Amino acid sequence: MFDLNSLNPQQREAVTHKKGSLLLLAGAGSGKTRVITCRIAHLRQQGVPAQQILAVTFTNKAAREMAERVQEMIGRSSTKGMVIATFHSLCVRILKAHIDRLGFKKNFSIYAAADQQRLIRDLLREIGADNSSADADQILWRISTAKNHLIFPDHYQPDDRDPLSSLVATIYPRYQKSLKAFNAVDFDDLLMFTVQLLERHTDLQKQYSERFQYQMVDEYQDTNPVQYRLLKLLAGGHGNLCVVGDDDQSIYAFRGADITHILDFELDFPGTKVIKLEQNYRSSGNILAAANSVIKNNQKRKEKILWTDSGAGAKIEYLLCEDGEDEARQVMEYVHAEKYRRRLNYGDFAILYRTNSQSRAFEEQLRYENIPYVLIGGQQFFDRKEIKDVIAYLKTIQNPADEVNLLRILNYPKRGIGESSIDRIIRYSAEKNISLWKVLQQASQVPEMNDRTATACDSFVDLIKRYQNRFKQPLRLLETLQELFTELKFAAEIYRQEKDIQIAKRRVDNQEELLNSMSVYLERTTHPDLTGFLDRISLFDDDSLGKNDKESKLQLDAVTLMSLHSSKGLEFPVVFLTGLEEGFLPHKKSIHETFDIDEERRLCYVGITRAKQQLFLLGARQRRKYGKLEQREASRFLSEIPEGLVQISTGDNKCNSNPEDEAISASHFFDNIGQMLGD
Ligand code: ATP
Ligand code: MG
Repeated sequence: MFDLNSLNPQQREAVTHKKGSLLLLAGAGSGKTRVITCRIAHLRQQGVPAQQILAVTFTNKAAREMAERVQEMIGRSSTKGMVIATFHSLCVRILKAHIDRLGFKKNFSIYAAADQQRLIRDLLREIGADNSSADADQILWRISTAKNHLIFPDHYQPDDRDPLSSLVATIYPRYQKSLKAFNAVDFDDLLMFTVQLLERHTDLQKQYSERFQYQMVDEYQDTNPVQYRLLKLLAGGHGNLCVVGDDDQSIYAFRGADITHILDFELDFPGTKVIKLEQNYRSSGNILAAANSVIKNNQKRKEKILWTDSGAGAKIEYLLCEDGEDEARQVMEYVHAEKYRRRLNYGDFAILYRTNSQSRAFEEQLRYENIPYVLIGGQQFFDRKEIKDVIAYLKTIQNPADEVNLLRILNYPKRGIGESSIDRIIRYSAEKNISLWKVLQQASQVPEMNDRTATACDSFVDLIKRYQNRFKQPLRLLETLQELFTELKFAAEIYRQEKDIQIAKRRVDNQEELLNSMSVYLERTTHPDLTGFLDRISLFDDDSLGKNDKESKLQLDAVTLMSLHSSKGLEFPVVFLTGLEEGFLPHKKSIHETFDIDEERRLCYVGITRAKQQLFLLGARQRRKYGKLEQREASRFLSEIPEGLVQISTGDNKCNSNPEDEAISASHFFDNIGQMLGD
């Protein structure tokens, strides 16, 4: 049962607000999302039919959580007929009912990334541009950006500064035409076509606007132009739109989110009632004070007051770690200690980072210590294709009889052993009852095998044998792994296959993490060899888990690992905000390319404000890059947190570098502390 008395006066005012537009622009943890859920419950209790209620959020997880909360408050049956959805799922509903008006059949399919890429590649071939430097993902990114800004193919204008855009101008209309011929739409079309549908067919616009008498939108600060237009169309008739958000948490500019939508809401909907929420219910005083003092360094923002009556709470702890591995170890130590001390579950802990490749060291340590975890919004490190490819090489080198791994790499990177040749090799091996590895060593004897392919097989065999020898030298394991990377040109292959430069970079970064993993292994082992390294890795190999284990992992009480972007709207008793170094947060791209430090500061603010009771800030003096240690500099955001809120731990007991290095890193460390405390 839902009770209005559980709300503060401002929240109550928002929840009971009857008609007309409403804006809640308030800081983190002030109960914005809670106002939406309570408002839905209250509307139902006031007799508003469920069908008239629409709530939109940004992620499926958020939509699910919101629906569950409402059900808890008023019972499942009272929620039947209301729509609590993401923008995309709302649009699927509308299009399923009416897309025929746009010339599609109602059973349309939705193209996922792989389908889109295939289509673009076909089109490039059709116009003879498949050999140019153009690539499918970059074109798709531009098409997606156009769609997010509601630019249809016939209005797409090439941009002189962007050499790819004239090709996009040619491809985009063809792409749309083909999709239509296949009766398919892509994800961005879902929104763009719904807007087109409602704009062209005023009867539908009226129908939906009238149906959804009460509309609510969470995280409004991150709406992009097409979402904004859609909301305006839906609210059209009555303007009963309640939006909540926080300009300080706008973190999706790179996807076209436009902060002016929330800042100008009152202009868009004259007569808007504006309610401010100022009490934070989530975080203890120290955490909130740190968040406030970081975000106030952003120039363009609406000044907000945010206070809490929950007391100062524990001090924030800053842990300066030796390196990335030490950072992971320290996090786990604190997970154990805090779990015991505060009687918490694993599910009460979140480890946050700026980029997904930072998850590797934490995953390794969590697996090493047998702590259950869930990784949100990213693939587990050792499940990633680029990592599995390298591991398949190492396993083949260690044991060429491992045919699954051998087949995985036989023609990767491409060396001219095509699928039909592989079929012949497999057939021959079965007929003669000899291993694939043996067949490869006598490839010219395989029937119908042409000379070129046989030569390619010979050089593959030669490569594996050469590395079998090289990997026998324990002192050169890291160098040999590096040589393998260089000889196979993995990075070039990734860039060839993955045309989205950003994704390709990330994949190459991930592979480099494997070198770091080798370097850590060498440090921790007295008698290193390739088998030992692979044993260590296979500890983390998910294939070794039964299917049920994998599935049940999701049900377990587990530590959450996720990027700052995915953490929006969530909260955890204990948060580890990791990698607080220049280059991670703020991200190097924002320092050198986009110069948008403010968006990075907002990310930092989002991270800090996820914590309820305890916040740990972590950074490392040095990190491995290509297996070598590199000095790091503390994040500028640390110096924006007042000294008195933070307790500093040096992790002294964990130093394992030589005394000379130690002297250097110690002075570096004190510089950092000075910088951190604003000396
Ligand atoms: P964010 O900006 O991070 O999305 P938010 O403003 O949406 O935060 P909520 O998640 O709604 O904040 O609320 C933060 C926490 O405070 C939740 O645990 C919520 O249950 C609690 N809370 C909100 N209002 C009250 C209240 N009046 N009394 C007690 N707890 C409250
Ligand atoms: Mg929220």
